[in-house]
Amino acid sequence: MPIFEFECKDCGQKFDLMISNADKDKVKCPQCGTGNIKQLISLFNSSGGGSKYSNLPPGCAGCAQQGG
Ligand SMILES: [Zn+2]
Repeated sequence: MPIFEFECKDCGQKFDLMISNADKDKVKCPQCGTGNIKQLISLFNSSGGGSKYSNLPPGCAGCAQQGG
């Protein structure tokens, strides 16, 4: 079952639930009990791995020479 993350619009409480797609409409805030919530980005494929970010060298590689 997928994990969905929600945020309460009333009290700002964030929580995640492992529910089916159909039950998302029934979700209520565990803090204040309101149904006034919004869904955040799901936590799919959150396994650790290599970093995608490559450290680019400072300066401009291949900058056009400024002619004067
Ligand atoms: Zn709340």
